[in-house]
Amino acid sequence: MMNVREKEQFLGFLRDRGQRVTGERLALFDEIFSQHGHIDAEELLAAMRARGLKISRATVYRNLDLLVESGLARKSRLGSRGFLYEHMHAGQQHDHLVCAGCGRVVEFVSPGIVALQAEICRAHGFVPARHTLQIAGLCNRCAEEAVPDGLASAPAPGRMAHV
Ligand SMILES: [Zn+2]
Ligand SMILES: [Zn+2]
Repeated sequence: MMNVREKEQFLGFLRDRGQRVTGERLALFDEIFSQHGHIDAEELLAAMRARGLKISRATVYRNLDLLVESGLARKSRLGSRGFLYEHMHAGQQHDHLVCAGCGRVVEFVSPGIVALQAEICRAHGFVPARHTLQIAGLCNRCAEEAVPDGLASAPAPGRMAHV
């Protein structure tokens, strides 16, 4: 089994909080760790129901909050799709580029940014818990399509001849 370390961390978190370890909580943990990338709460709910699990929407939302608090899931507002969830591995850090055109989300890891954050926190005597970095803009495909009119959308000369 993968994610053994993460599951232990989650169980420890529940114990420390005096929260019961329920089948539903474990099922949600398994679901979010089986998903790659970013998914919204409704998609998670649908995926769990598709597996034959009887789980209520309220339970999913409540326990997603718990997973986020435990540090094992991250909730981010990525572009126009609203809040999306993704699982987090211990010690792993990545940031996002979000395309405003097609909604594509690109993940990147920058050791330079990680080092800079540590340096900034040290300088301020600040103990970091988490950070958010999101760059909004256009992906290469959308940026190409956004070339000003007259350049990109001028009809090809061959087609004009029929008019
Ligand atoms: Zn795009
Ligand atoms: Zn991500």
